[in-house]
Amino acid sequence: MRRLAILGATGSIGTQTLDIIRRHPDMFSACALCAHSDAEGLFRLAREFNPACCSLVDECEVPSDLKHIQWFFGPHGAEDMLIACGADDALCAIVGIAGLGAVLTALDSCERVLLANKEALVTGGGMVLDKAARLGRELLPVDSEHSAIFQCLKASESNKPRRLILTCSGGALREKSKAEIQNASVADVLSHPTWRMGSKITVDCATLMNKGLEVIEACWLFGMPPEKVDVVIHPQSVIHSMVEFEDGAVLAQLGKPDMRGPISYAMAHPHRISCGGERLDFERLSGLTFAAPDTDRFPCLSYAREAFKAGGSAPVILNGANEAAVRAFLDGRIKFGAIADTVRYALDTCEVKAIHDIDGVFEADAYARRLAEQRLTALERRN
Ligand code: NDP
Ligand code: MG
Repeated sequence: MRRLAILGATGSIGTQTLDIIRRHPDMFSACALCAHSDAEGLFRLAREFNPACCSLVDECEVPSDLKHIQWFFGPHGAEDMLIACGADDALCAIVGIAGLGAVLTALDSCERVLLANKEALVTGGGMVLDKAARLGRELLPVDSEHSAIFQCLKASESNKPRRLILTCSGGALREKSKAEIQNASVADVLSHPTWRMGSKITVDCATLMNKGLEVIEACWLFGMPPEKVDVVIHPQSVIHSMVEFEDGAVLAQLGKPDMRGPISYAMAHPHRISCGGERLDFERLSGLTFAAPDTDRFPCLSYAREAFKAGGSAPVILNGANEAAVRAFLDGRIKFGAIADTVRYALDTCEVKAIHDIDGVFEADAYARRLAEQRLTALERRN
């Protein structure tokens, strides 16, 4: 029986993780649950899973039937909860850089960290990997592409990969012209063709920033230089990613697009368990297609590579500007095309600095958000 702390319990990854726990109550329990502000959602989950600890960023009145649970509030509530709850594993699915502190604390206090929160690696990859290595913690990828690569690498252990190939659905705007992309509405962007996810990552999929963040994530997780991490558009999302070896052989991991696959793989590692997903039916697969990504229509993919190569605070600037711009788009302040524009502005305007510790990361993030806000305000006036 493994006791899990679930960070981001009310979100897309969090609720799918709880679905696996429901299916395997003999293998897993949820000993801690955290959310940001969805108190009612968290109360419902707490009644069902009866964790020892819960946390919310926004303080609220706890109902009398849940007062036996230890509650933590505030921006560091999730970290305090991790220290108190004694979980074996932490499933880190807070969205954005806001989850970085919790990932680092999870490495201190849990045996294994099951990582969905890719922004933690984009902004603090060096610190996360160093800490995991120093403390001998297992860091298991939950992101479907990275889970696929992890599985392919395990299948050919002791052989160095020559190249990683991340597949990409192409997002909701894959077939759209530059002008249509520029003016895409929130509704257009949130209708992802193959995956159901939280709103921030769905917007990132439409700009291809998600794939850019995933290139950086793959570089950190698998110790690869960015030139050896390729991206291929694969609209069916059946091949979740691939690894090429020295002899030219390519291993791929396939399955229906259902995050419960990679989540359950990380939870039960090194075993495989049923997760409720549909099976692939090869007779009904009408063809798997591949294409090169179009970085002219979707420049964010190149911006992410550029920021990672620049190093220092550049990936934090990229991420912070993107988080601010995605928020502004979802709030109806700016056009879709202004997201890429804002990230470009922040990268062009910022002074890249060396980062030595987590305070340096958060300073760079605040700086990125100030730069982004300058641009967002200017773009808003133009609308
Ligand atoms: P959602 O928006 O669906 O959920 C985010 C969760 O995090 C919610 O429970 C939210 O609480 C909580 N949260 C947000 N901010 C904070 C905070 N500051 N402190 C504590 N809790 C917080 O996101 P997803 O589940 O889609 O994504 C989560 C992470 O997983 C992202 O980094 C994403 O890139 C990654 N990922 C997601 C995939 C997916 O299929 N969804 C696939 C691969 C990776 P509340 O409900 O109260 O707002
Ligand atoms: Mg992914």
